[in-house]
Amino acid sequence: MRAVLLGPPGAGKGTQADLIQASLGVPHVSTGDLLRTAVKNRTELGKRAQAFMDEGKLVPDELVVGLIRERLQGDAASGFLLDGFPRNLTQGETLSALLEETGVALDHVVSLNVPVDELVKRMLGRGRSDDNEETIRARLDVYVNETSPLCDYYRGHGILREVDGLGTPEEISQRVLSQVK
Ligand code: AMP
Repeated sequence: MRAVLLGPPGAGKGTQADLIQASLGVPHVSTGDLLRTAVKNRTELGKRAQAFMDEGKLVPDELVVGLIRERLQGDAASGFLLDGFPRNLTQGETLSALLEETGVALDHVVSLNVPVDELVKRMLGRGRSDDNEETIRARLDVYVNETSPLCDYYRGHGILREVDGLGTPEEISQRVLSQVK
């Protein structure tokens, strides 16, 4: 299975990706995690990415695309679950092209739908270093302006699966699984 988890920050993409990885054995690939590791290890890429992440902005496409290209090299054919990539239409088109090079395509794009007041509540509760009120607002704006157009893009390709993201992680993962099986 080659799938993408789409949704605003705080929608539970990481949690769902872990549950689906445990249940179906598909590797969870998170650009946020890859970037946080690069920042922690003080790599050149990490140093360039950090300021954008601290402000809740998207890291420039060329940095993230390099990262995802490298990470998907082994997994593109056998399957993956992407969390946090693509984040804009350019990245969406890059992903399609990258998969096409391997002769494969995405099977599903699962959009987790959660109301904004619940997103803010969840993010303030988890206390990650980029989870302060100002950054949360910036990341929600980025989602609305840059990421959400991907819903229409994938709907047009007939692979968008919309899932209610309210409930316990287990309830939500049952909904996700029923959409991708
Ligand atoms: P996440 O853990 O997915 O919420 O990502 C945390 C931060 O990493 C985001 O606010 C962005 O600054 C950056 N980031 C993660 N994925 C991407 C991406 N695909 N494109 C650009 N920036 C990203």
